[in-house]
Amino acid sequence: MTNQLYACLTFDFDAESVQIRQLEEQGRISKGQFAVRRGMPRILTLLRKYDIKATFFTCGWVVEQYPNSVEKIIEEGHELAAHGYLHEYMDKLSVFEEEIVIERMTRPLEKFVDKVKGFRAPYWRLSPNTLELIAKAGYIYDSSLFNDDRPYILTLPDSKKLVEFPVEWYLDDWQVFETYQHSPSSVLEIWKSQFDAFSNDDDIPLNRRVFCLTNHPAAIGHAYRLNVLEDLIKHMKTKNVIFSRMSDVAEGILQDHEISD
Ligand SMILES: [Zn+2]
Repeated sequence: MTNQLYACLTFDFDAESVQIRQLEEQGRISKGQFAVRRGMPRILTLLRKYDIKATFFTCGWVVEQYPNSVEKIIEEGHELAAHGYLHEYMDKLSVFEEEIVIERMTRPLEKFVDKVKGFRAPYWRLSPNTLELIAKAGYIYDSSLFNDDRPYILTLPDSKKLVEFPVEWYLDDWQVFETYQHSPSSVLEIWKSQFDAFSNDDDIPLNRRVFCLTNHPAAIGHAYRLNVLEDLIKHMKTKNVIFSRMSDVAEGILQDHEISD
């Protein structure tokens, strides 16, 4: 990896998978569908405007339901990564059930990409087995843990390796806009402050300076919220930052690791 600051914009494209799994009524289901009808087109337009390649985590079920949205993600050069089959709680599944879910979530995505490289656990909830199972299935990175604020290499008990891109609630649009209903200006301030602190922190090794943000088309896709993301992007572009897909950063980190070994 070049010695520079990186940024990974990530979008959890859940559509209405959560509501379908929970057998909710039509009104709640329609809230998830906002992601498909309005959120995704707006986000793709914004990313195109700023020539940014991003990562979209999505469920196998969503890929089966909305192949046109997935085609657009691929056409625009973004990364397609996995996020459960129907947005399951991985921690509530047996090892056998988890293996089935991982297989079911991966197969539909593989109709669009040769190899699915990244996984993010729905609700950021993992069983003690999840990471080993996704490494066994051929994934090279995960983005579900909270134990750092920069990516690192996770060595699993069977000595397989994954790159971990840690997450945080304040860097998640769902938390700040839907759960806590923060004002746009306060969200922008939080995100900008964290980005600035990160870009100015000389203690972070240069090949680990990766600012990661989690968004959901059903949340950030509302116009006033997307303006916040656009303002953040404009601010970030004033610094020397490379916007990158998570898989590209993960491969760079693994390559550097092999060289240093
Ligand atoms: Zn999700």
